[in-house]
Amino acid sequence: MLANTGIRFIQSAVDQIDLPQRQITLRTAELLPYDRLVLALGGETPQTQIPGASDYALPFRTVADAYRLEERLRILETSKTTKIRAAVVGGGPSGVELACKLADRLGDRGRLRLVECNAQILKTAPEFNREAAYKALEKRQVWIDLNTQVQSLGSEQMTLVYADQEDTLPVDLVLWTVGTAIAPALRDLPLPQNAQGQVITETSLQVQDHPHIFALGDLADCRDAQGQGTPHTAQGAIQQADCVGWNVWASLTNRPLLPFHYTHLGEMLTLGRDSAAMAGLGLQLDGPLAYLSRRLIYLYRMPTRDHQLKVSLNWLLKPILSVLTESA
Ligand SMILES: Cc1cc2nc3c(=O)[nH]c(=O)nc-3n(C[C@H](O)[C@H](O)[C@H](O)COP(=O)(O)OP(=O)(O)OC[C@H]3O[C@@H](n4cnc5c(N)ncnc54)[C@H](O)[C@@H]3O)c2cc1C
Repeated sequence: MLANTGIRFIQSAVDQIDLPQRQITLRTAELLPYDRLVLALGGETPQTQIPGASDYALPFRTVADAYRLEERLRILETSKTTKIRAAVVGGGPSGVELACKLADRLGDRGRLRLVECNAQILKTAPEFNREAAYKALEKRQVWIDLNTQVQSLGSEQMTLVYADQEDTLPVDLVLWTVGTAIAPALRDLPLPQNAQGQVITETSLQVQDHPHIFALGDLADCRDAQGQGTPHTAQGAIQQADCVGWNVWASLTNRPLLPFHYTHLGEMLTLGRDSAAMAGLGLQLDGPLAYLSRRLIYLYRMPTRDHQLKVSLNWLLKPILSVLTESA
């Protein structure tokens, strides 16, 4: 997408940011000076707060995480175990989507539980999506532990605490979807940060007291022009990116900067292999029709025709290829 534009793409990691010198150091030791800096490093899944979590639970955030999960499932599915006991920690959108997908994949062999420390799952979701999610989990016989904390994890067990009672359960697979921690490159920078380490911005998305630095996406704590916080979702980050792009240009050309306005476009949630829920812009839909609509919306939002073509071909061919492989 960046070919034939004035943008130089460097595939590397930022190791250090030197605020006084206004330069960044790449992993290759290359130094890059900047006039304006945009921080958009996203976050990572924190697993250090619970004993055993970093050793025994799998995070689910990156492509590498997805491959690790696929490999773990392959090992469990080809083992002699009659029942595969899986727990998903975190009843947010990722946890709910994963629990439904895993339940569909494992079928009768799966014993799934979803562990959530609050009194309900999807606490910020529209009521319609939450109700659809409860129904989907119930249909797939996913056990939901509400008001429950994970106390520790072992190689084949997890200890849960509910109403001050400890319970240790056998488990074959634990998926960790809780929280977002700030990227390591930002942790020790003297930038204004909230309690979660997110960088606090002005409505223009400039970092407070650092007008030449902009921050957006999962790492930013941003209130928009109406004073509403921006959710840490892809739609929030994409809308902020438009505003940051404009404001970087405006600040370099001495024009007035624009305040960010967040427009909530609604929420979509997959609920298993062929179902979904969506609520927003006056529309509420669930079941297979929501699943199809969600896919079409994602297709429409692909950045180029080429991407749209590749993705739709993949969607069309995948079921045909899997039928052919099963019958071979
Ligand atoms: C499993 C899962 C499902 C989700 N599903 C949805 C959904 O359906 N809808 C939705 O709206 N949101 C969803 N989200 C949230 C959404 O993905 C994020 O809010 C969004 O991607 C944030 O954008 P970002 O640009 O801040 O960060 P990211 O998209 O995470 O991008 C950050 C980039 O910076 C790179 N990076 C990190 N550190 C460095 C470094 N030191 N040097 C160089 N590069 C670096 C990373 O590799 C990454 O490519 C989901 C999140 C997860 C984890």
